[in-house]
Amino acid sequence: MQCDSQSWSRAGVRVVLVPTMGALHAGHEALIRRARKLAGPGGMVVASVFVNPAQFNNARDLRAYPNTLAADKKLCRAEGVDVLFAPRTLYAGNASVAIEETDVSLGMEGASRPGHFCGVATVVVKLFNLVRPDAAVFGAKDWQQSALIKRVVRDLDLPVRVVMEPTVREPDGLACSSRNFLLSAAERRRATVLWRAIGLARKAARSGGLRGLKQKLTLFIEQQTGARVEYVEFFDEQTLKPMKPGKGARLALAVFIGKTRLIDNARI
Ligand code: AMP
Repeated sequence: MQCDSQSWSRAGVRVVLVPTMGALHAGHEALIRRARKLAGPGGMVVASVFVNPAQFNNARDLRAYPNTLAADKKLCRAEGVDVLFAPRTLYAGNASVAIEETDVSLGMEGASRPGHFCGVATVVVKLFNLVRPDAAVFGAKDWQQSALIKRVVRDLDLPVRVVMEPTVREPDGLACSSRNFLLSAAERRRATVLWRAIGLARKAARSGGLRGLKQKLTLFIEQQTGARVEYVEFFDEQTLKPMKPGKGARLALAVFIGKTRLIDNARI
């Protein structure tokens, strides 16, 4: 079989895509394993590694983003990825078309990182067009991003099934993230504060202590670690609209540990 996306889709091979920005870790590994299952025997797993400049609203953040392509290749090989797609660039120099979503992407990450989700939506649609997957796997770690992709697929009638895989965590609760590679040893210890804040919110929900919870969590994070909190938000999992803390709400956090911005979310 020829190795290009048109010929494999014509040949009836089930193709499952895992889009990433590289610096692969156990979270990506879980997505790849899920993709393997979805692809089935004879199916094809494609992982993409592309640090997409269009989704960075901060040049320093883009420059600092970890690049571990040699290790990523090894991990992909070990996990049985069939094709690793790692383009140097994906954009024409004068690219002038982008995809804007105007509902689920507005709050939280969308509000904190102007242009971020436009960059995400655009690159994912480009990857879908290039790879032509039957399904694509995304992580619950980036809940809002996964919701955005589902909305793009629905509203643009893209023939791709979007699958969300649960967040993979380190033994101490810290969500696996490529950005964890940027933390010093002391910062890595402090970074557990996100998971501890989620634990605190769950405890408050059980005991009915929900009044002023957003402020309490912000204070807790700041006092425990001196970290800068960008937002603490309770939201509806489906609509992504803010909601009162309580049963069925999901909590999202964005926190700067030193210069590294970490996000996490969990159902309360
Ligand atoms: P990234 O390389 O950070 O852009 O992430 C690529 C994909 O991996 C996205 O769908 C993320 O949501 C997902 N992902 C990142 N970290 C985790 C994690 N700890 N658990 C599960 N999925 C993750």
